[in-house]
Amino acid sequence: MKKLILVALSVFIATGLITNNTNLVNKTSVVNSNSSGLLEFTNINENRNLVATKIWNEINQSYKKSKPQTSFEMEFGPNTSLPDGSVDPLIYLNKASQLWSEFKQPSINKVYFFNFKDASWAQQKLRNLNGSWFKPEELSCSSPSVCAALGGSFGESGQLFIGIPVREKYHVNNFYNTLAHEYTHTVQYYQAIKTPRLNPYPLMPCWFAEGQPQVSGWSLAYPDLNSYLLHRKALLSIPAGVLGDYSSESIKNFFSKAGLSKNNKCDSVIRPRIYDTGYFAVEALSAIGGINSTMNLVGLISSGASFEDSFKRVYGISWSDASIILSEYISSIYLKEDIKTNLNDKTFYPTLAILDTALDTSIPAIRSQLIGEVCIMDWNTCANGSSFMEGSGSSGIIPDNCISNKNFSHGTQMVSAAIASNPNMKVLFVRIIGNTKSCARQNTGINTVPNALKWLYENKDKYNIKAISMSQGHHNLLRSTKYCPVTNVDYWVDWLSKSNIPVFFPTGNGRDYLRIDWPACIPSSIAVGGVEMENPIRVSFNSNYDKNLIDIFAPISARVLNPGGSEGSAYGTSVSVQIAAARWLSISTLKPSLTINQTLDLINKTGIPVTNSVNSNGIYLDIDKIINE
Ligand SMILES: [Zn+2]
Repeated sequence: MKKLILVALSVFIATGLITNNTNLVNKTSVVNSNSSGLLEFTNINENRNLVATKIWNEINQSYKKSKPQTSFEMEFGPNTSLPDGSVDPLIYLNKASQLWSEFKQPSINKVYFFNFKDASWAQQKLRNLNGSWFKPEELSCSSPSVCAALGGSFGESGQLFIGIPVREKYHVNNFYNTLAHEYTHTVQYYQAIKTPRLNPYPLMPCWFAEGQPQVSGWSLAYPDLNSYLLHRKALLSIPAGVLGDYSSESIKNFFSKAGLSKNNKCDSVIRPRIYDTGYFAVEALSAIGGINSTMNLVGLISSGASFEDSFKRVYGISWSDASIILSEYISSIYLKEDIKTNLNDKTFYPTLAILDTALDTSIPAIRSQLIGEVCIMDWNTCANGSSFMEGSGSSGIIPDNCISNKNFSHGTQMVSAAIASNPNMKVLFVRIIGNTKSCARQNTGINTVPNALKWLYENKDKYNIKAISMSQGHHNLLRSTKYCPVTNVDYWVDWLSKSNIPVFFPTGNGRDYLRIDWPACIPSSIAVGGVEMENPIRVSFNSNYDKNLIDIFAPISARVLNPGGSEGSAYGTSVSVQIAAARWLSISTLKPSLTINQTLDLINKTGIPVTNSVNSNGIYLDIDKIINE
């Protein structure tokens, strides 16, 4: 029997960053949104899946429209250096200034960076200032790995004290959030410049005072939507802890406990949750009223109006009514009610069938989007000891330590890349790669992929399959100009396409600019190449190319989950395939009547033309453009 050796088409750099259990959120289908895309208090709960995308897009589009409105004088403590991998902090301070360009800002800001060793240096810098709302003892690191950061203004100038923790897993995105967060505080304080002796911070409810800088901070800290959504999912999976539980009653309670502070201090028990639960509240307010609405609210409070009066003026609804709606909304995003109620409603979510190595189904983010598992192989190495298995456990592997082996972690990474790109779909995992006892890959037979595609065709209605992706392939091509090997895969890709189920394959990462991998070279498949998300977006030199066969381009890298749930980076056209297929399902949910060719036309019409210096030209699938159309 002829053996086709399928290889995983991506390179992985595990960063060892551990995420929290990342449960899924926002399961309401986008078809429920009203056509204008307007979010209001009356529809926010049913459209909760749109909130994060809308506000991230708004923030990341609007800051680019303005220049920085202030200047920053940065000083580093004698022992202090930037976190590993950090870019110039000025970039993120400026982004925050640009975002708040419609609001008064100080003309100058003093920014002091300190670490554990330099805390007393920072305190001395504070004493040397002409007054401050901060006290020296607030500028401290309780240990080398935990430091405070404060931002504000006093009189005419901004004051930022940025503690830099020294720890192995201090991710730069946390640092970038801190920068934009603290400068947002500076803008908050500065809205009271007409009454310079007024500190507006304690006039805001605690959940708002910290929730607002978190919204600008996190949105600016994650320059791509997928990683913002992944980060947000992690925050949504934190146990209820001091909140008691995530019922709307408990969230309502949170709003009253974390309301206006006493003696400038929030209730210390509830305080940690103003940074996440408070953040989700202000994120929703921002999605409803626009990000500037939140600073307008600060402006009114700074001019002497009460929070309640200011809220009514900005949002046109009383805080007591709004807090009931927000409590219900926040409760549902934590409890993911829609997952529970809709998991068995097969008409509700489209399903992406992903063919790959194996899948860690114990990861909450994956489990909650998984609709089914099946194993189809030429070998008797499915988890039940045969060559076919359907149902729970089918994507698993025996011995089970092979799940995290580098030969088999690919499936988990690919599924996480897909679900991060579209929280409104389900995944059917199809295990097609067998293993030896020592976790080596078994060869894939010539019939494996056709058998899997045939099975998917026959079960397309059972699982509501709307697209199929496989981030595997090879470059053993024929020598003729028609270089694509013809197998039974062609037959099933054609049949599936005729049923309006596109099949996505990667072009490969071999830097071949004339020929793409099999099976992406099958004309009726959707061949996906990779782009580097630079400015402008550029076709990756690693991405194989054939102008006649390539269909679309998608990002070549993404944050992914590894078996066990740790976070890492993935790179390769493997990744591009999953992002493209997941985005395709977003389009088919929005526009269910489109055929494959009509969808490709829409992508070509709305997408971004991309190229590189070796003339690999094509279209980048711009999903935001299509969603916001
Ligand atoms: Zn803060």
